[in-house]
This record gives sequence, structure tokens and C-alpha cells, in this order.
Amino acid sequence: MFNNISLTLKIFIITILLVTGVWFAADKYQTNTLKKIFYTKLTERFALQAKEHRTSFDHYVRSYNQAARLYASSRRLLKNVTQPGWQSSSSPIVHRTKPGWVYEYSVMRRFVTPRYFLLYDAQMNIKEAWNIYGEDIPNELLNLTNLHLRLAQNQSHLTLLNDKPYLITFEAIKDREDNKTIAYLMLSSPIDSEFMYDSQELTLNNIVALLKADKETVMVSSNAEQIPAGIKLSELKNLYEVIGEGFFDYGSSELVINFVSFIPTEEVQHLTSATLTEERKLRLIAGVIYTVLFMSIILLVTRRLKKLTQRIVDFSDNMSIQLPTIKPRDQLIILEDRFKRLANAIRFETAALEHQASHDPLTDLPNRKKLNELLQNELLKNVRTNEKLVLIIGDLNHFKEINDTLGHHIGDLVLQQAAERLYNNVRKSDTVARLGGDEFSILLPNIEIDEAIRIVKDINKEFKHPFIAENNKLNVGISLGLVEAPTHGDDVNILVQRADVAMYNAKKHNLSYTVYDPKNDDNHISRLQLMAELRDAIEKEKLNLYFQPKYETLSGALIGAEALIRWHHPVRGLIEPDEFIPMAEQSGLIKSLTRWIIKVSTLHCAQWHQLGFQINVSINVSTQCIHDPKLIAYLYDSFKRNSLPPEYFTLEITESDIMTHPIRAKSILNKIKSMGANISIDDFGTGYSSLAYLKQLPVDEIKIDRSFVLEMANDENDKTIVQAVIDLARNLGHKVIAEGVETKEAMDILTELRCDYVQGFYTSPPLAPDEFSELLSVIQGIKQHSSL
Ligand code: C2E
Ligand code: CA
Ligand code: CA
Repeated sequence: MFNNISLTLKIFIITILLVTGVWFAADKYQTNTLKKIFYTKLTERFALQAKEHRTSFDHYVRSYNQAARLYASSRRLLKNVTQPGWQSSSSPIVHRTKPGWVYEYSVMRRFVTPRYFLLYDAQMNIKEAWNIYGEDIPNELLNLTNLHLRLAQNQSHLTLLNDKPYLITFEAIKDREDNKTIAYLMLSSPIDSEFMYDSQELTLNNIVALLKADKETVMVSSNAEQIPAGIKLSELKNLYEVIGEGFFDYGSSELVINFVSFIPTEEVQHLTSATLTEERKLRLIAGVIYTVLFMSIILLVTRRLKKLTQRIVDFSDNMSIQLPTIKPRDQLIILEDRFKRLANAIRFETAALEHQASHDPLTDLPNRKKLNELLQNELLKNVRTNEKLVLIIGDLNHFKEINDTLGHHIGDLVLQQAAERLYNNVRKSDTVARLGGDEFSILLPNIEIDEAIRIVKDINKEFKHPFIAENNKLNVGISLGLVEAPTHGDDVNILVQRADVAMYNAKKHNLSYTVYDPKNDDNHISRLQLMAELRDAIEKEKLNLYFQPKYETLSGALIGAEALIRWHHPVRGLIEPDEFIPMAEQSGLIKSLTRWIIKVSTLHCAQWHQLGFQINVSINVSTQCIHDPKLIAYLYDSFKRNSLPPEYFTLEITESDIMTHPIRAKSILNKIKSMGANISIDDFGTGYSSLAYLKQLPVDEIKIDRSFVLEMANDENDKTIVQAVIDLARNLGHKVIAEGVETKEAMDILTELRCDYVQGFYTSPPLAPDEFSELLSVIQGIKQHSSL
């Protein structure tokens, strides 16, 4: 439910709740603090008052004994007890009116107002009694024991009689002459509210009290209405502050007096609430201001958040992700949800792309790149563990025939089944990969060659069974080559190459498998040696550059030449560029080689120009070279040095080289173009470039790959391709040249298709520079002859 509230409203509700919460917490805290402060102040003030109360009570209690002493020595009382017959009178008299011996009552009242006056004879028998209210005397007073009376003699004695507190004082009345005791006087008062009240000069607000032994319960207070006897102190907590607690102990008294003062707390409450009202007003204003300011900021933020959310929602709506069925209104929840979905989609896509990039779509096996990676990892691991591994390369026998006669569809089914058979015959930890075409590879980690051979034999056995593809029963064998690492090498490229050598060896000798043997690898020893020799040949300029003429198809005019490298090896004889150029690319030698080719070809080109032949020279440059800025600069210098206009120079770059780094290639080509040189796409038709991409490149010429031209006369497909390329080049405004023109038929077709230029054995093979110069002079001769 909460999800369906917009973010702004949500924050608003939370803010209000928080502000209210804080308001109440602050209020409670402040109330307590204020109360505490006021209480402390008041208690300090009242503590003095309480002390006065205590002193006053103490004086009042003691004044009873003083009063008793005064009475006992009074003339009138003496006279009363010495009158004849007083001592012998039998029953005591309880007066109903004030007896005469209570004289100067009003004078005594200043100090003390005893409730009961009792007269005893010398044997401590009661003779007379007087209650100042003219009423009966409580029995407990009339029945006091002698011992009790003695305890109260000459002092104010506090005691519990019949569970009620009393103050008693007892004094002897003595004969003035012989100082003999004739009688006794007792003064007494119940310690009740009246007593408590009389002991103080109290305002109505202040109340004093005595507590019971538990110190919790009120025994008697000066205001029985407000603080009745028996009430607990805790019940008074909110109304009164109890202070000035103190004990009194009067001589022989058995009653230990616990005296307290009560101060009404109304004042504290009044003060607190007055201050609080002001505080609350301020706090309310602050809360409102805070809420308004905070909400304004939140509104600003949520507005931007809404925009952001909308963008992400729009974006994700356009993507093929699963959209939410419930649409919450809170932007943060929407944002979070969309992010989750997008992240999942991206994760999924990335995983799919990763899989795609490393797997063959037809068989779903790892591809060559992935295999190389895995092999590399295993090799690194083996360095640590000292284990061996075996790499196998397998190639199906006669697959090309199946493909050509039964079609690619059947070919694909065979490849899938072959993949399955390989996969089913290896261990879980092994990897089966498809390298391309009908070539497979198996990586067997942690194994030695003997065991690998057992697996290979199983595979071969499995391949003896015919393949069934759409009612066709096909016998497809496989040739396998094995290498063991590190026995046969510890480098990915070397192992793959040697497994390949072993596989070819198996094919060559019609074997189902062979293990790599350096004896069979003429490639092997010579390779490294050949590289060293090539380096030497480049340095010593022992290579030759040949030039193959290019002609205009219609006029037959010589318009240019392609520079082609030749290596006449002193021992091996002529080595084909197809053999050593890839090696030179692998080893990086290609850069110095290309530099030399640029030097020689610009030099010749300039010479021919001086002779009056405006001939264009093409050179072949591989990827490494076009991406090398130093080489481009070298090329530019060479033009300048030979005063050669750059437009007479063409760089041939193969279509597949461009397509490996299309974006980088584009910027480099633009750079070359801005220098003034021409660009030709070599081996066109083999590299899968897209038309849209081709349109963006600064290309001058398209060179149809010789594989199409060679077969063109016999193969209708190839002819169609050549025609399509010519049409495409024309549409894009590029010149088009056909290479590999070997026959008159090919020449005729190209003329018919209006291909701009031709190059091939039919017109001329590649020529050594002096042969080329000779050709030029022949042409010059013909020209001169015809002009004569
Ligand atoms: P490419 O650039 O496609 O060169 C054309 C190849 O076709 C040359 O082979 C040439 O001799 C050959 N050819 C010419 N006319 C015909 C013909 O009518 N029929 C047939 N079947 N072939 C013909 P070459 O010289 O053996 O060069 C092979 C490849 O080696 C070249 O292919 C090029 O990729 C590379 N290459 C040659 N010279 C150089 C060079 O100076 N630098 C670089 N980087 N690569 C070079
Ligand atoms: Ca070429
Ligand atoms: Ca070519």
C-alpha cells in the first residue's frame, strides 16, 4: 500500500511524524528539566522554613514542662491541695467547669494550651481532673501507672496510649517550707491536628506532620482535612513536597518522633506550565518552519528525480526487458526496480555475448580463441604443478565433398554429429573446440600421451560408424594429430602448429592419428632459422622487389604496377611471399621490411616519372604497418625526398585487415588519404565488409580477389560475384581492378563487365625492375613509332 504513495507524499508524512515525535520528546524532556530546576530552587527555600517548623514544634513540646513547673509552684494550686480534707477525699472529681486552681489561664495560653489538667495526691492517686473543653477525660489518662507518671516527671514526655500519641508532663507540688511533696500535677494533650497546628505559626498552605515508625505513613498532621492520618507519603507525591524530615527524642519518651513539613507543589506546577507554554509556542513555530523548508527542498529534489526516473523508464520500456506488472508511484521504488531489471538484462546480454564471442554457433563448442585461452591457462598451471597435457587437432576426411555434393545443410548436420561424438568420448575435464571449417581440437589436461592415445583410438572407433543426415548414410573419418606439453613445446602457438603438423602427417599417410614427431616437421627447424635469415636479408637488402603491370581494360594502356616482394634464398631458392610474409608479421619484421619496400618502390616510381611515365605504384601494407604512425611518417618523407606527387602512390590493404579493427582503420585511412595517397581494398570479397561501412571509407579502388577471377570463366557463381563487385564499386564511385587475370576468356568477361583495370599473368607476370624499365622503353618505342 505504501508503495502506491508518491515519494513526495511519503516524505511529507515521514517528516510530519518525525517533527511531531521530536516535538513531544523535547516537550517531555523540557517539562522534566524545568520541574527539576524549580523543585531544587523551592526545596532550598523551603528547607529553611522546615527547620523553623521543627524548632517551633520542639519549643512547643518543651513548653509543656515549663508550664507544669509554673503551675506546680503557684500559690493557688498549693492552697487547693493543702485545704483540709483534700488529701483524704475518696473519689476523684472530674470538673465540668474550670476549677479555681487553673488560674491565669489566659496568661498561660501564650505558651501552651494543655488539654487536660490532673491533680494527684502524694501517693499518686487522682484527686481532680479538668478537660479544658469541659468534657470527659480519656480513660487511658486516668489509668496511667505510677511508673508512667514517673517517666514524665520534670519533662515533656511523648508516649502512645491506647495507640494514640500523647504529650504528658508530671510535676511535684512541694511544701514551700520543708520542700516535701504534697501532691502532683499532670498536664497532657493528645498529639492531634490541633496540637500540631498550635505548635506552629502556620500559613494555611504549610502543613506539618508526624510520621509512623515506618516513616511512610502519616500519624497526625496539622491539617487533617488535607493530609489525614494513615495516608502514605507516596500518595501525596504530586501535591506536596516533603522536606525537613527530622527526629525528636524527648528524654524518656518511648515515642521517637519523625517530623516532616509538607510544602504544596502547586507553585512548581504553575511556574513550569507558564514557562512551558512559551516554549511550546516557540517550538511549534520552529517545527512548522522546518517542515515548510524541508518540504520545499524535497520538492526540488523529487522533481529532478521524477525526470531521471522517467528517462530510465522510457529507456527500459524500449528495451526488450520484462516490464513490471504493478506500477508503484514512488519514484525511488520505480528507479530501483528499473535498475534491477536493466542490470539483469545487461548481465544476461553480457553473458550471452561472452558466450557468443567464445563459442561456435553451429556446435556450441568453444571456438579457437577460447581454446587458446584455456590452453594458455593450463600451460601456466602445469608450470607450477609439473603436469603434462595433450592437445589434439582433428580434421574430418572428405568433408569438402559432402559439402559440395549434398549442400551446406547436410555439412552442418555432419559437423554437429562429429562434435557430439568427440564430446562423448572425452573426460569431463577435457575441452572439445571447433577451430573452424571441419577442424576440431581437443584439450586434455593432466594426461600423458599414452593415455591420450587410448582416448584417440576410442574416437577413431566411434567415427567408423556412418553418420546419418536426412536419409543419407555417410562415412566420415577423422585424422587426428597429437602433441604433448611440455614435451613438444610450451607455447600456445607452437603447440597448435605442431598438432597441426601431426594431423597433416596423419592425413598424408592415411593414418587415423599420429603423434607429433620433429622429423616430420620440415617447417619446424627452418622456421626460426628462416626468420633469422629474413632479418639478415632485409638488413643487407638482399630481397628483390618485382613490379606487376596494371592495365586499363578498354585502352590496354599501362597505368601502374603492384610491388611484390621476392626472396631468392641462396640455398632454398625462391621463397614465396605467402610463406614468409605471415612469419614476418608474426615476428614484427614486417615493419622494417615495409620500410624497405617503401624506399625502393618510391625510388623506382620517381625514376619512371622522370622518364615521362606517369605510372602509379601500389604497395601491400599489413595491419601492423597501417597502425604504425612512424611508418606513415616515413612514407610521407619518401614522397618529399623523391619529389613524387603522392597521388601516384597506392596502399593496398586487405579487406580482412580493415575489418579486424574497423574503427581504428577508418581514422588511419583518413590520415593516409589526407596525405594525398590512394587506398585500394585488396582481396575484396573475402572479408565480409558491410556496404554501409564501406561507404564511409575514403577508398579509391576495389581489387577483386583473384580466387573469384581465376574461376570466373567456369563458375557462374564467381562470375556473378565479380559482376556484383564491379557494380558495387561503380555505385560507390570507386575504380575497380581484377587481379589474377590468367586467360583471354577472363579478359573478355572483364571487358564485357566493364572492369576498369586488369592485372595478371595474361597481361604480364611480376617483373624485375630492369625488366619493367625494358617494358617501358618498348612502350615508348611503340609510341614513337605510332606518332611517326
Ligand atoms: P596479393 O597482394 O593478392 O598479390 C597478388 C598475388 O597474385 C601475387 O602473388 C602475384 O604474383 C599473384 N598473381 C599475379 N597475377 C596472377 C595471375 O594471373 N594468376 C595467379 N594465380 N596469381 C597471380 P605473390 O607475389 O606470391 O604474393 C602473394 C601475396 O603475398 C600477396 O597477395 C600479398 O598479400 C603478399 N605480398 C607480396 N608482396 C608483398 C609485399 O611487398 N608486402 C606485403 N606486405 N605483402 C606482400
Ligand atoms: Ca596486393
Ligand atoms: Ca590480392
